[in-house]
Amino acid sequence: MDIVELNEKIMQCRKCRLWQCARQAVPGEGPTDAKVMLVGQNPGAEEDKAGKPFIGRAGKFLNKVLNQNGIERKELFITNIVKHTSPGNRKPLQDEIEACCPYLRKQIELINPKIVVLLGAVAWKATRVAGVEYFETVHPSAAMRFTKMKQRFEEDFAELAKRIHKS
Ligand code: URA
Repeated sequence: MDIVELNEKIMQCRKCRLWQCARQAVPGEGPTDAKVMLVGQNPGAEEDKAGKPFIGRAGKFLNKVLNQNGIERKELFITNIVKHTSPGNRKPLQDEIEACCPYLRKQIELINPKIVVLLGAVAWKATRVAGVEYFETVHPSAAMRFTKMKQRFEEDFAELAKRIHKS
């Protein structure tokens, strides 16, 4: 299976209830040979409308921190552990995460990034693919709201930038 076929599968997925309240699935975007992959929780309302990940408020904050650290967003593959939005933007449930997780695993296998950055506790649940380095940080929405989280997020992205620019 290639990434186009995988995207089609994701777009047609009915493995959990979330498709019913979503306009579309958001498989993710970025180069299919990206060295770094960013994984969030699931699309919000704006992402659901546009079919692209991290374009709302959290995405704008993420862009700012990427810029501050000289990381080019267009070089990253950006996706979520759950590919559909959820009612009222609630956290995805465990069975929804489990149903969707194999898609992320397949994306990681096909793209084969060096580093996968897991944004927030829901993304931390991703199954690990051998040979790939995983980097856990907080979710940008939490970083926007809480000073301590913001500090951690900024420190983590500074560290990530060092690793990216070293390789
Ligand atoms: N929050 C996420 O976790 N993912 C998105 O794509 C947007 C907001």
